[in-house]
Amino acid sequence: MQITEIQTTLFYPEEAVFEPEALEYDLGRRLYDDFRARGIRLKTAPSHNRLEVPGTDYCTRFHRAKRMAAVGVKRSLTPQPCRPSADYRLILNTSCPAKCHYCYLAATLGERTYVRLYVNIDKILRAAKQSISHRIPEITTFEASSSSDPVALEHLTGALRRAIEFFGKEAHGRLRVVTKSDHVESLLGAAHQGHTRFRFSINTEEIINEHEEGTAPLEGRLDAAVRVHGAGYPLGFIVAPLIIYEGWQSGYTSMLDKLAASLPEAAMRDLTFELIMHRFTQRSRRLILERFPDTTLAMDTRDRIHKGFGKYVYEPQKAQELEGVLRSLISERFPEAQIEYFT
Ligand code: SF4
Repeated sequence: MQITEIQTTLFYPEEAVFEPEALEYDLGRRLYDDFRARGIRLKTAPSHNRLEVPGTDYCTRFHRAKRMAAVGVKRSLTPQPCRPSADYRLILNTSCPAKCHYCYLAATLGERTYVRLYVNIDKILRAAKQSISHRIPEITTFEASSSSDPVALEHLTGALRRAIEFFGKEAHGRLRVVTKSDHVESLLGAAHQGHTRFRFSINTEEIINEHEEGTAPLEGRLDAAVRVHGAGYPLGFIVAPLIIYEGWQSGYTSMLDKLAASLPEAAMRDLTFELIMHRFTQRSRRLILERFPDTTLAMDTRDRIHKGFGKYVYEPQKAQELEGVLRSLISERFPEAQIEYFT
């Protein structure tokens, strides 16, 4: 497969807000100088957690916030679980420049959807090391994408490469990354030692076009996946969110056909899939409709069941159909792949 020549545009904020303490770190000073040289509006604020985003209504504030970045120090370093994907989260940044209508962070971020870039990467990695040490001889896994798409921000901070190289040296630590970005270049030469599994979040072209604003197209993600595999990383795919719409079966068939046609034979031997159904809460639905009043994302509670913790998922018969179809499409095309979970 040929490398796609036109990649998605790299994100640079229109406005960046710095915590004064962030400027005590090399990365904070580098970001400040880089943003200033690019003519980005710069401000300071006491905390990256409580920025005021101008705008009279929530929709305006949301879209404005997505063009802002806060640069600060990550203070809470207590290990947080991250099931079913990993043992713990590794939070290098928060939020991302894309605007997926269904974003799984919708409710958690609320008003604070601006990108947050953390400058104390060494401390974050030291905390991860402690968590790894406590569990030896077990292998401890960390998810780098539980609060962001770190690949989409890597050109700004280089934090993910540092994390990948840190895990490359850890006999008992493993990193997991998920992305919808095609900007993997700077990670290809990292000394990963096979300790980081790179997963691409993929979906049907209909869903990507309708609901994933600002992400790389399917072909860009597949090109990037081939390059990542070529650099020796273990590879996987998250198919999420699984959505039932008119023509969904042919949409997922065509997506998996494209995937099978793009991957080299060698990639098929160690491939993982994670399958995640679409879900929402009443709060996330309200926020999504305020952010994207014209969205076609279906969020009717009548064909969903309440799963606990306020979450709505497809009712059991539909969920079983989704799972059955996806499992057989995957095993027909990728017989050696491991489907890690369907949820
Ligand atoms: Fe949310 Fe991930 Fe989409 Fe970013 S790429 S908007 S984090 S779902």
